[in-house]
Amino acid sequence: MGLGVWGSATFVWVTIREIRVYGVPLETKATYNMSNSTVATPVSTIVEIVDADGTIGYGEACMASPQFQPEHNDGVRSSLSVLAPAVLGLNPLKLSVIHTAMHAAMTGHAAGKAALDIACWDLIGKKLGQPVVDLLGGAQMSAVTTYHVVGIGPADAAAAEADRLQAEGITRLQLKAGGRPIDADIASIRAVASTLRPGTDLAVDTNRGWTTAEALQVSNACADVTMSMEQPCATEAELHHLKGQIRHPLIVDENSVDLASVARMISSGLASGFGLKITRLGGLTAMRAARDLCMSARIPMSSDDAWGGDIIAAAGVAMGATLDPQLSRGAWIAHPYHQNHYDEINGPRIDNGYVTLPNAGPGLGLSIDEGQFGEPIATYRR
Ligand SMILES: [Mg+2]
Repeated sequence: MGLGVWGSATFVWVTIREIRVYGVPLETKATYNMSNSTVATPVSTIVEIVDADGTIGYGEACMASPQFQPEHNDGVRSSLSVLAPAVLGLNPLKLSVIHTAMHAAMTGHAAGKAALDIACWDLIGKKLGQPVVDLLGGAQMSAVTTYHVVGIGPADAAAAEADRLQAEGITRLQLKAGGRPIDADIASIRAVASTLRPGTDLAVDTNRGWTTAEALQVSNACADVTMSMEQPCATEAELHHLKGQIRHPLIVDENSVDLASVARMISSGLASGFGLKITRLGGLTAMRAARDLCMSARIPMSSDDAWGGDIIAAAGVAMGATLDPQLSRGAWIAHPYHQNHYDEINGPRIDNGYVTLPNAGPGLGLSIDEGQFGEPIATYRR
């Protein structure tokens, strides 16, 4: 870090001197079934960006499975062979410059860009002695509501799981559906709905798994159930077809791919809410803009990611804490489903339905031992 002088003030000067990339397998300990895939052992991508004095900023991107999203974990790491050299030597505080350099080097590949973006936020927080949540605007809730997934399975098992989760304090349930006969989905929805306690919110998430006809059939069959329908069909065109016909609020997840698509689906009235993912949008910088747009339009959103460990979880919870509580659909983290934790003490954990922000220090608030990810698969130096 350098200290510059501007009039009577000093300012921090930070330069990205080195970037290290790691592949970390996240072995699952609980089954996670979606309409089109089961999560196995995704290999998360960790990036470390290093300043001249050795301070490290951590970023992460992890795709749950290649079936429901266009990106793949091997592709994330491959994209960094282009993106990392493009940002070496830049000041991570100048995030617009960072993103312009990444976009100039490579179209698309939002997940690789997101990993670098998150690492910039962590590094800058450490340099300024500030938590990322404050750099994002400040926490509006000390403990962030989370939601928990009930996977695809028999109706009685889904109901038992929903009941167990509510007994643990979870007040937001997401029931997975799709990829099987529609009657089985309807039976599961009705069984889970019968367990709902006052104040519990239910979303049925199909991860693009139904046709429009199936989605309409479910909505009509469950018209008396208070729930939302999350990404019931694959495409934005199909969602437009459904809007006005289904009887439930429509939440858009997989089709919200960037700020422009979020803006379009707000202005068209398509989205009643969003499930937003940091790596799909390209990082905390893009997520912050989408957050401000959603909050301004009074559209509820969640702050999530597809999968990943403590780093992406800390980023997601930091963003989740900054939401207007009335418009928060919660923050989802993957830690109940896998065995790897980079910071066993401070990593974000769910307690009684809420996640507290890690506070081991500035930046993302994590304490990660240097070298704990082993040998990097790639190192880029200026
Ligand atoms: Mg979803």
